[in-house]
Amino acid sequence: MGTTRAYSNGRRPAILQGLAGLAVCLAVGVATLPMLERVFLNRAGTQGEATLRIAVEGLDATLERFQPLPKLIAERPILTSLLKDPTNQGLLPFVNEQLRLTAMSLGVSDLYLMDVGGTTIAASSYRKERSFVGRNFNFRPYFVQAVEGGLGRYFAMGTTSGERGYFFAAPVIDNTRILGVIAMKFDVRPFEEAWSGGASDIIVTDLSDVIFMSNRTEWHFKTLSPLRGEVFNIIAETQQYPLAQLLQLDIQRSPLANGLELVSIEGEDFVLSAQTLPEVGWRILHLTPAGPARAQALIILLLAGLSLLLLVLAGAIIAQRRNRARERMEEQERAKDILEHRVAQRTSDLHLVNAHLKREVDDRTAAELRLRNTQKELVQAGKLAALGQMSAALSHEINQPLTAVKSYADNATTFLDRNRIEDARENVTRISKMADRMAALSGHLRNFARRPQDTVGPVDIRLVLADAIDLMGTRLRAANAKIRYEPSKDAVWVLGGRLRLQQVVVNLISNALDAMERLETPEIDISVEELPKNRMRVSVSDRGPGIPQEIMNQLFDPFFTTKDPGHGLGLGLSISFNIVEDFGGSLSAKSRDGGGATFTVDLDRARPKQDREGLAAE
Ligand code: ADP
Repeated sequence: MGTTRAYSNGRRPAILQGLAGLAVCLAVGVATLPMLERVFLNRAGTQGEATLRIAVEGLDATLERFQPLPKLIAERPILTSLLKDPTNQGLLPFVNEQLRLTAMSLGVSDLYLMDVGGTTIAASSYRKERSFVGRNFNFRPYFVQAVEGGLGRYFAMGTTSGERGYFFAAPVIDNTRILGVIAMKFDVRPFEEAWSGGASDIIVTDLSDVIFMSNRTEWHFKTLSPLRGEVFNIIAETQQYPLAQLLQLDIQRSPLANGLELVSIEGEDFVLSAQTLPEVGWRILHLTPAGPARAQALIILLLAGLSLLLLVLAGAIIAQRRNRARERMEEQERAKDILEHRVAQRTSDLHLVNAHLKREVDDRTAAELRLRNTQKELVQAGKLAALGQMSAALSHEINQPLTAVKSYADNATTFLDRNRIEDARENVTRISKMADRMAALSGHLRNFARRPQDTVGPVDIRLVLADAIDLMGTRLRAANAKIRYEPSKDAVWVLGGRLRLQQVVVNLISNALDAMERLETPEIDISVEELPKNRMRVSVSDRGPGIPQEIMNQLFDPFFTTKDPGHGLGLGLSISFNIVEDFGGSLSAKSRDGGGATFTVDLDRARPKQDREGLAAE
């Protein structure tokens, strides 16, 4: 449960984090945009200020350049002469032409001479259709200022030309008397043309907020604030501007930093920076379009947002990877736990099985011990039984020679009576041989009756085999059996006990004879051969029915027999098996190729016994 929850919890925050990050990005973006915009607007305004300064300096320089000129021109004596005699046709054309040439060389649009009444008597434009000559300008403030002895300066739309211009005027003085006024007008359009090259706009307003210069012609004579009535009247009187065009622009303003303003003029947004030319009472306004700055702010914000989004995404991916790695580790941990649990379970199962097996082994060991004891007793009992059998066989063996001895003795007596000495000797010799045979038999009996010691030592297997064959002589003869055995010349030493080994061989021969009961000429093969690892093998083979596979495993079990009751106890092989095992050897059986069975006794070789050859142990 706990791990499942950890698993789902690990994945959900990654998505939630991503969404939350996005929401935060949007919120921050929306909140930041106006601030960022202001930063960029301020920057645009600051850049605009530089342009503004250049524009102001240009204007100022021009005004300064033109300002002293009327006064200098007024000092020309010819002007005084003409003013004194205005109708002098000898002077007038000359003055007119002089004014035209001067105007041309100075680069001003008009240069003209007025009498004290304000009527133009000579003008640079004398040749033009709309000549100033004859026109009266006494209503113009510049004339009024100049005729009063000062420097006249004024901006207005020309009443004759209809062109806007800046006017400078100076009095023409004869000694101390003012005879007239010389006025100069210069065109402002070249400034506007210069300004219209850039992306920003420039406006020049007068003290009444009337725009009289701008690269935007549609704004000419528009006002930035409502005109007061008296101002309007003055304008009307001085015919400064065309009254019909004096309309207020739709303008909204909001301050930015450092004296900059954000203004909206007729729906267009600008950053406004302004400077005044105090001498002339002008205000020069620089208008940088707000659009690009805003676009820049938006782009920067979007870029920042995008970067943030990428960061958040990268973060989310890393978090997800980490989660996956953690999940994998948890899974491995779980698998490890399960494995460890299983191992522990198996180990405890094994412990149980082990304990069980140990108990079983103990039981078996105890049972084996009991069996061994029983077998030992049975060996003894078996020997007694064999002794019984052997006693019967021996009594038969002894009776036969005894009967023969009796008849040989009787015969010898008869031959001696008849003085047939040679025949009597022959019978006596036979009697002696019979006695030898009986002595041999009793020797066997003595050997068998002796209880064997448990000692094991070198035994010459040839003697064991010879004794056994000898012991079985009667039975072999009775069965008409033949033993094929070729004893080696040298002694063959094995580890064992002579009598017990003999008992084993007797048993094997006896079983072989039993197996070949029905044969007319039973044959038993006995051989001794060398095995690897310093072992010797004695084999006893017969031509009987062999051993069926199904009883092969029971052959050596105690009391296993296939013989009729009274004929077999089923102890012979069991006892023999244990005897051979006691010597460190092994007894085994197999069926023989071509019929019959072979029993083999494998024994360790022993070092020859020096003292009494072949009569070791027991
Ligand atoms: P017993 O001879 O009293 O039956 P053994 O232990 O000597 O007891 O033999 C057990 C059984 O082994 C025999 O009953 C017989 O079936 C089988 N057996 C022993 N020797 C031979 C043999 N040479 N050929 C065939 N079967 C044999």
